[in-house]
Amino acid sequence: MSKTNEPWTIGSILKWTGQYFAEKGVENPRLDAEVLLSHILDRERIQLYVNFDQPLQPQELTAFREAVKKRVARMPVAYITGHKEFMGLDFRVAPAVLIPRPDTEILVEAVLQKLQGVSPVQVLDLGTGSGAIIVSLVANLPAAQGIAVDISEEALAIARSNAEKHQVESRLTFYRGDLYQPVTGHTFDAIVSNPPYIPDMDIRELTPEVRQEPRLALAGGPDGLDFYRRIVHEADAYLKPGGFVAVEVGIHQAQAVAALAQDKPGLTFESMIKDYGGIERVVIFTKSQEVHRADSILSCE
Ligand code: GLN
Repeated sequence: MSKTNEPWTIGSILKWTGQYFAEKGVENPRLDAEVLLSHILDRERIQLYVNFDQPLQPQELTAFREAVKKRVARMPVAYITGHKEFMGLDFRVAPAVLIPRPDTEILVEAVLQKLQGVSPVQVLDLGTGSGAIIVSLVANLPAAQGIAVDISEEALAIARSNAEKHQVESRLTFYRGDLYQPVTGHTFDAIVSNPPYIPDMDIRELTPEVRQEPRLALAGGPDGLDFYRRIVHEADAYLKPGGFVAVEVGIHQAQAVAALAQDKPGLTFESMIKDYGGIERVVIFTKSQEVHRADSILSCE
């Protein structure tokens, strides 16, 4: 960034940065320039347009230059700004957590629809990351309580801060652990998860931006299905009668994930939901309403 005489203005720096990002192969050059500048100047993007001639202060210029360098090194915009919008709420994000995706809103919307009017409601989120799923669920369901589990302590700190930011921390409990391990003995009306699902071999083919996201949140084993096997196979013990499991899945995984319930007597495949790109993105399983009578039969003997 060099310019001799006139100071940089909002208009001139956006133009320069948009071109620079395009040359460097950044996918949405102009949009990213605007999002980063509005973050540095702490104002809405629309405000940039009505202040095109405003000169930048030296410290604003320094901060913006740092942000531009990070973006050219392919750091995702959300890690640079520390924020990402999801379900109309602002979430704190950092490189310790996966950046919430619009596709995951399909999962949240499906779960909200199923739980509408049900009260009280206990929800479990496995691999919560930023907390985007459980925080937006609980924020939209006044009668809901949730437990969120993650193996990463750093992720849990971010998820907790998002719960506080959206004032749902009194209805959420966070545990560190491996999938169901911290909630042994508890049962839920709904189990939700966007687990790591990228096949290990495909990680290196992801965009440079996605490769800066935590491997722990992406890698799903040789076929990408490792976490679904565990989530589905153990779900029965953690669901109340009539409860359900809703998971996000990767491209071409829905059929294989749905089939995981085939030899599980307690759990039945219910439905799949497509994302905006027409890809099967969410798989839902239900547990039957009938209460298992095995214990009482034995106790009659
Ligand atoms: N949706 C992410 C991607 O496609 C992957 C998220 C995940 O593994 N759960 O990059």
